[in-house]
Amino acid sequence: MVEDDPSISEPLVAGLARHGFEPTHVGTGAEAIEAAAAADAVLLDLGLPDVDGVEVCRQVRQTSNVPIIVVSARSDEVERVLLLELGADDYVVKPFGLREVVARIRAVARRTGAGGGPVVAERTELVAGPLRIDLRTHQVFVDGTAVELTPKEFDLLAHLAADPGAAHSRRDILEEVWDPHWFGSPKTLDVHVASLRKKLGHPEWIQAVRGVGFKLVVDAAT
Ligand code: CA
Repeated sequence: MVEDDPSISEPLVAGLARHGFEPTHVGTGAEAIEAAAAADAVLLDLGLPDVDGVEVCRQVRQTSNVPIIVVSARSDEVERVLLLELGADDYVVKPFGLREVVARIRAVARRTGAGGGPVVAERTELVAGPLRIDLRTHQVFVDGTAVELTPKEFDLLAHLAADPGAAHSRRDILEEVWDPHWFGSPKTLDVHVASLRKKLGHPEWIQAVRGVGFKLVVDAAT
């Protein structure tokens, strides 16, 4: 992911990880040209502080067939055509939703994969000790036994498990698991955490981080 605005890149990194991707973030065009060779797909913002994204696209294309999805606030048709001529595979116009980006990445990966090119490496499961989360089927297992979760409980658990041990802020969780423009009661999160603790049978796995939010700590020995 090439994006110089942390207010976009931070939630996007977390969101992509929650959907099973392993995003690498860079903030400049020069870094993007370096890093593109090792990537399975490139999500490229056009407005960068050093090299223009159009030029980054052109340079990456000279040496690599990696799928490129351009992210742009410029929505005029001429530029879209130009970008596709430069070798971009698809584009997303800001503001965009996480689900839209995930769908575009998967679509591009499918298309290029079918042509013998690289396929985006997706994590299909998250494992922490006896906890296993299947991101494809939305199933959760503790010691091999399936645990029935609601869709929101699943998303909450997957969000925490994408980076075990890390403190996830209440705000990030609400934005990522609920909605970017979610203005409901903050108690909703606590209700879901309580329910999740009970269903997993290990209340100590989901720990409150005072003044921040929550973290997932699964002791492999439990
Ligand atoms: Ca930018």
